[in-house]
Amino acid sequence: MNDSKETSKKKRKFLGIQFDCCNVYCRIYVNKEGHAYEGRCPKCYRPVKVLIGPGGTSGRFFSAQ
Ligand SMILES: [Zn+2]
Repeated sequence: MNDSKETSKKKRKFLGIQFDCCNVYCRIYVNKEGHAYEGRCPKCYRPVKVLIGPGGTSGRFFSAQ
């Protein structure tokens, strides 16, 4: 694994998310603006976006309905 290359540059936070559309669990990452987690369902490529609140998201798990 060479993910040290990524973390040394900038810490990329991720969020575990459950895609109810395909019943799969995946990780999505913070976008470049840093105000939301963005990603896609690995199966149907449905985009998801989870906004990060002023104090940051409290939970670590979300589900996309
Ligand atoms: Zn899906």
